Amino acid sequence: MSTQIDRVLTDIRACQICKAYLPLGPRPVIQAASGSRVLIVSQAPGRKVHETGIPFNDPSGNRLRDWMGVNDETFYDPSRVAVIPMGFCFPGTGKSGDLPPRPECAPTWHPRLLPLLTDVRLTLDIGQYAQNGLLGEQRGRTLTDTVKGWREYLKDGKLPLPHPSPRNQMWLRRNPWFEDELLPDLRARVATALDLPSFTSESLS
Ligand code: SF4
Repeated sequence: MSTQIDRVLTDIRACQICKAYLPLGPRPVIQAASGSRVLIVSQAPGRKVHETGIPFNDPSGNRLRDWMGVNDETFYDPSRVAVIPMGFCFPGTGKSGDLPPRPECAPTWHPRLLPLLTDVRLTLDIGQYAQNGLLGEQRGRTLTDTVKGWREYLKDGKLPLPHPSPRNQMWLRRNPWFEDELLPDLRARVATALDLPSFTSESLS
């Protein structure tokens, strides 16, 4: 018997709302279950993720899993991790990289989908689009300000992160506190949310 979340996921996978704007056509890439414990809200799939249909199946995903201290098996288990971007389909590429998530997507689907995830213990708001959408007026002036103030969002179970793209290497070098202070805390919180035996015990792949 299909559940309410199954029905919403089926509707999302058939969505064509902004088809006219998608250069490669609709292919929503999401992962979710009603019992997901960690929710990842990111921007939109890139071209490689669009081609495979697997979220974060790219160098950004490798880095994100390393940041979280989880292996592929854990990351791709929807009963543990949900991946729900601000735009579910690849939006195309502009002069300076991928275009922003389609503006129709999150307002259409997030209100139907997010309330069905009833056991989320930690939400990772990845990148400026997710922070704009989820933190609203609470976010800082810049992404760096928002991430630097990460402790104040924890009371709501949220943790803002920069995008794990290799293109953000310079940002990571300029902000060593991120790896020194935030990442150990992130790994511990993910391990607690997922009931992992120890945040250092998973073999990363
Ligand atoms: S980006 Fe979102 S709104 Fe647009 S077609 Fe894909 S699922 Fe539908």
